[in-house]
Amino acid sequence: MLRRLIMSFVILDNFLTALTRKLFPTRYKLTGHCRQCGQCCRRIILTMTPAQARSPLFTNLSVRWISWLFGFRLLEIDHEHDSLVFDCRHQLADGRCGVYRWRPNVCRNYPLVDYFKKPVLLPGCGYTVAVARLEASGKS
Ligand code: SF4
Ligand code: SF4
Repeated sequence: MLRRLIMSFVILDNFLTALTRKLFPTRYKLTGHCRQCGQCCRRIILTMTPAQARSPLFTNLSVRWISWLFGFRLLEIDHEHDSLVFDCRHQLADGRCGVYRWRPNVCRNYPLVDYFKKPVLLPGCGYTVAVARLEASGKS
């Protein structure tokens, strides 16, 4: 119950972020569609700042919080790229999501399109990346 309550705020936050992206479009956009291959649930990479990655306390608390709230399971701490790598206990045997309606924002927003860098796709992902039409047509 507490988890669901917190997730409601997390999802609301995601909705507001999506609204902002509509008002201020990103440079890149996604085309294509999800093939439901489930790859992106098998290796979920959450990046930390270098300072966060150097702190065992932060790392430990993050792993515990993410594991509890999202049901992710730590696979490894990637010290080279300052990131935590998880899989997910909610992934069904056929690769689909077992908590689709309540999935975390990292899942809702995958592949992530942010303002500063080109999205990175997993091999075989059904999406492709294109430059937004405004920029491609030479307008700014
Ligand atoms: S890797 Fe791409 S195609 Fe596969 S489940 Fe994730 S978003 Fe969908
Ligand atoms: S919550 Fe669902 S979409 Fe997210 S990683 Fe787990 S199985 Fe995949």
